[in-house]
Amino acid sequence: MLTITKRLEFDAGHRIPDHKSKCRNLHGHRYALEITLQGEPIDSPGASDNGMLMDFSDVKQIAMEHLVDIWDHAFLVYEGDSLMQLLLSGLPDHKTVVVPQIPTVENLAIIAYQILAPRYRQRFGAKLQLAKIRLYETPTSWADYTASN
Ligand SMILES: [Zn+2]
Repeated sequence: MLTITKRLEFDAGHRIPDHKSKCRNLHGHRYALEITLQGEPIDSPGASDNGMLMDFSDVKQIAMEHLVDIWDHAFLVYEGDSLMQLLLSGLPDHKTVVVPQIPTVENLAIIAYQILAPRYRQRFGAKLQLAKIRLYETPTSWADYTASN
């Protein structure tokens, strides 16, 4: 099995509304997102990406466009956290991203996978798949979400 991994970083705020301790407070993280693609090297003599699974600059461009630029310097708020949504809606031009689950690193890794997997599939078809998302919330804490097949 051959994989490649691209790492991107972004800053975002969140809170875990039901947490027993400090994570219920508004705070932020420097997240690091590692995108692992699995496939076969492109066999296309003369092509710019010949011999690659996918050009790293293309891996980056897709992730930036569909996820990182949207989440960077945003506040990620759970759609069930109505108090927080009310507060954020009162801030003019605030960058808020509503997510369908509580924004733990585990849930964010799953959401990132669900957003990105079809984007990579669209681009290169069945020859390439998003094998894993690893999302670091801190340098020593992360979650992995791996494709089921
Ligand atoms: Zn946190």
